[in-house]
Amino acid sequence: MIERSWQNWAGNQHAYPAHRAEPASVDEVRSVLQRAVEGSRPVRCVGAGHSFTPIAVTDGVQISLDSLRGIESVVREDDGSAQVTVLAGTRLRELTAQLWDLGLAMTNLGDIDEQSVAGAISTGTHGTGARFGGIATQVHALELMTADGRLVRCSRDENAELFDAARIGLGALGVITRVTLDCVPAFALRAVEEPSTLAATLAELDATVAAVDHFEFYWFPHTDRVLTKRNTRLPGNAVLRPLGKVRSYLDDELLSNTVFEGLNRVVTRVPALIPRLNAVSARALSAREYTDRSYRVFASSRTVKFVEMEYAVPASEIGWVLREVDRWLEQSSMSIAFPVEVRFAAADDIWLSTAYGRPTAYIAVHQYHRRDHREYFDAVEAICRSVGGRPHWGKLHSLGGAELRDTYEHFDDFLRVRDSVDPTKVFGSDYLERLLH
Ligand SMILES: Cc1cc2nc3c(=O)[nH]c(=O)nc-3n(C[C@H](O)[C@H](O)[C@H](O)COP(=O)(O)OP(=O)(O)OC[C@H]3O[C@@H](n4cnc5c(N)ncnc54)[C@H](O)[C@@H]3O)c2cc1C
Repeated sequence: MIERSWQNWAGNQHAYPAHRAEPASVDEVRSVLQRAVEGSRPVRCVGAGHSFTPIAVTDGVQISLDSLRGIESVVREDDGSAQVTVLAGTRLRELTAQLWDLGLAMTNLGDIDEQSVAGAISTGTHGTGARFGGIATQVHALELMTADGRLVRCSRDENAELFDAARIGLGALGVITRVTLDCVPAFALRAVEEPSTLAATLAELDATVAAVDHFEFYWFPHTDRVLTKRNTRLPGNAVLRPLGKVRSYLDDELLSNTVFEGLNRVVTRVPALIPRLNAVSARALSAREYTDRSYRVFASSRTVKFVEMEYAVPASEIGWVLREVDRWLEQSSMSIAFPVEVRFAAADDIWLSTAYGRPTAYIAVHQYHRRDHREYFDAVEAICRSVGGRPHWGKLHSLGGAELRDTYEHFDDFLRVRDSVDPTKVFGSDYLERLLH
């Protein structure tokens, strides 16, 4: 018996679907869809529930592809790369470990690996690195079951417009059943993490972002402290020097998760403590260097619950955006305990990609799940929008179709393709109605 009530990871979205299905084969997906259409019930797919928005919420039929997981085929190229086809419910965590055993890797990942492959690509999940796109740019082809039960394959050479729409399709076009990923030979990453100041980091930003394979930094609000992370790609057979168990427990589990949870509980009651605590936290995270398998360096565990908004802005604007956020915080009475995360991505050509057509910087702001986020997120959103910012599709924002259309050249093309594959909006929801009109 499948539990019908559902909530997302952050606990800020709830759903009470009339029916919740976990098909064990592609044919079963078709039967579930058929029954939903016959009963005039809307359908939403759900992956790992790691989006902060109601994007997976439905009171109709919720389909989980948790039983459709695993690698189906590997087609190797002479240069060591490969096209790997996976069932769409496969979680990134299991996939990356299995790829390593095959001598392969995903070329870039976000900062966690809990997501399903279909869920991660559908909202434009990304990592960092000015030469690298988000996870959807690694998609070579995908297979989609449309509302009428047809299985449609798309790639650059086959149903190309559907491919442009469906790589970041918001679950609005059908059920993704299989994804073929362009994988690269397994590689290691050397991670160098060190404290710095916001002023120094911004002064050298262009050069750093261009020189380092995967650069990101965390800025501690109310201070000028930042923690920088530089990941450099090394061959898969490089000598690995992972973090020792004690250091990794101290830094990642204790300082970043357990102590941080405790601090957040305290500052929720006494927000005035935050600026001083941020200065202490920024200093507590000392420099460290380690080398490990790429996927272990990219992703880490997050146990402190928060809500998040993330905006993609033209890379050249990120310095201005951060200074404006700093200025706003100085004037406001808000105290923010969570570091602001800044990442980078290459321009791409996916219609609804936040990095469509421009080198991109991402600014992610977080708020502890027990504290109100609205005033802070609204202020950052206004700053980002003033430079043509685009919100992450899986994270909180206040935009609707009218504003989104302004920032996406192919917004109406997306709607046209959606109309052609799902004319009666079987895969619709109130939330999608807000975004896609
Ligand atoms: C702690 C945390 C860390 C995060 N880190 C990052 C990060 O580093 N970078 C980043 O960009 N984002 C990040 N995110 C956001 C996250 O990657 C996205 O929200 C992602 O979509 C979640 O994947 P999921 O499998 O949980 O999908 P869900 O949230 O369950 O679903 C997302 C969308 O995918 C659709 N979908 C799911 N499966 C299918 C399918 N089979 N067919 C069609 N549509 C489908 C759903 O309908 C929905 O529209 C993070 C989120 C959390 C909670």
